Amino acid sequence: MATAETRREELKAVWQQAQACPKCPQLAATRNTVVFGAGNADADLMFIGEAPGANEDKQGLPFVGQAGRLLDRLLDEIGLARADVFIANTLMCRPPGNRDPLPGEIDACQDWLFKKLELIEPRVVCTLGNFSTKLLRADPATGITRLHGREEIRRIGPRTVRLFPLFHPAAALYTPSMLEVLRTDFARIPELLALPAPDQPEPEAEPELVVPEPEVVAELAAEPPPPEAHPSQLGLF
Ligand code: URA
Repeated sequence: MATAETRREELKAVWQQAQACPKCPQLAATRNTVVFGAGNADADLMFIGEAPGANEDKQGLPFVGQAGRLLDRLLDEIGLARADVFIANTLMCRPPGNRDPLPGEIDACQDWLFKKLELIEPRVVCTLGNFSTKLLRADPATGITRLHGREEIRRIGPRTVRLFPLFHPAAALYTPSMLEVLRTDFARIPELLALPAPDQPEPEAEPELVVPEPEVVAELAAEPPPPEAHPSQLGLF
């Protein structure tokens, strides 16, 4: 079990790598910042929204606009604050003109999201709106109107979590009835956090160790050593 400090350090290293992500040429060319996500690296609860908007792109932080203020209020109503949770998005870069994320962009950003899940190890993941819900349930046909407020245990990349789809706070900003539904769904989060952590998938089997024949060892030993690696080439986190 990683300590909070280790998680923070590992997450910081991934954050650093993500800053130069070139995977979506259009987004990389138009973004001001990569909005990696923010919050508690040791959180039990993670929220996943859609994509950064103009404010998030400027500040490099998720949910800093109006929808973010509503998210803060809903968290406060269940006795939580941003510092208790980790907030990320399906995409780390703002789509120009706030257009919808494209399937290829969602696909390209998915590994970054999985890496966050792997390092933070949340027990409960709340998807906010259609994009993250469809991605994490791997079911593009079933939307948030049918799924909100129904928890399910799901394997998401490297982790098994309690997935709890919610309406996106932006959808509730101007629709009081939607806000009431979101509030009712939010009220169930403490109960989900109190449930036992879901069982995790078996770790992948270690590749079998192949012991080389003695003559191969002798041959390798005779070869000159490879040039020394620079730490930046090691790819360690
Ligand atoms: N909407 C999102 O989905 N994410 C943000 O970060 C801001 C608004």
